[in-house]
Amino acid sequence: MKLIDLHTHSTASDGTLSPAGLAAEAAAAGLAAVALTDHDTVQGLPEFLSAAAAGGPELVPGVEISTERPGGGPMHLLGLWVDHHEKGLQEGLAWMQRVRAQRNPKIAAKLKDMGLAVSMEEVAALAGGQVGRPHFAQALVNKGLVANTAEAFNRFLKRGAPAYVEKQRLSPGQAIGLIRGAGGLPVLAHPALLDMNPAVLAELVQKLQGQGLMGLEAYYSQHDAPQERRLTGLATRLGLAVSGGSDFHGASKPDIRLGTGLGTLRVPDSLLAGLKQKLDS
Ligand code: AMP
Ligand code: ZN
Ligand code: FE
Ligand code: FE
Repeated sequence: MKLIDLHTHSTASDGTLSPAGLAAEAAAAGLAAVALTDHDTVQGLPEFLSAAAAGGPELVPGVEISTERPGGGPMHLLGLWVDHHEKGLQEGLAWMQRVRAQRNPKIAAKLKDMGLAVSMEEVAALAGGQVGRPHFAQALVNKGLVANTAEAFNRFLKRGAPAYVEKQRLSPGQAIGLIRGAGGLPVLAHPALLDMNPAVLAELVQKLQGQGLMGLEAYYSQHDAPQERRLTGLATRLGLAVSGGSDFHGASKPDIRLGTGLGTLRVPDSLLAGLKQKLDS
């Protein structure tokens, strides 16, 4: 059995490996397939796809879109095998970039008001690609203003903390529509992190399925074995495909390894057939 990893991030969002570097790392790890699923952007995909090599892993173009969960807060939807040239997807993601461009200076201003000077130039230099709260956290760490990113989020950046700025998000249905419009397979990311009881989660998943959802990410670094089984069972019951990935970010989440997550993750390549069959259905 070979392993796959259908959830990873590069420097195009908040990971530390370049898209080509990620493809190379997946080849070195002997993975059968790897998907690049940067947050709210497909900018890394041309470089990623051009790193394809004979005998190397299948490179799956993807995206992870942050949406507004019913009741508030973020809910992530993965799009696998998206066509990153497709107009509707590009326009939807461009809207999200504009939202970020308006929000980031407000975060910088709030930090400044608290005597924590972090300029937009600094965070942009740290980011390489799109700028988000993780880069503000990194800037605060680099300046010795906090000990680590966890402290940066807890004291300043998390929702409800003094430098938090609300972000407008797409609805889950809109994100599913963008992914389907780009020929991709929409998958609910890390469902266990939604922290819902099984019955409520099942109801939500069915509602999303009505809006075009096609898969569940049952295998995930932070899902334990019972959660993995429960989510695989739910997917099977509802006729959804099962996906899995590590959420690899490189050095910004050093405990999470490509392919094996926190050490025990094993996403079998046998899942690929079910995912592709669903995509073609
Ligand atoms: P943004 O899209 O700019 O709001 O940033 C969201 C990202 O920040 C998420 O994808 C996480 O990687 C990271 N993040 C959110 N909350 C925390 C937290 N409490 N601790 C560390 N990282 C976090
Ligand atoms: Zn991330
Ligand atoms: Fe996520
Ligand atoms: Fe992710």
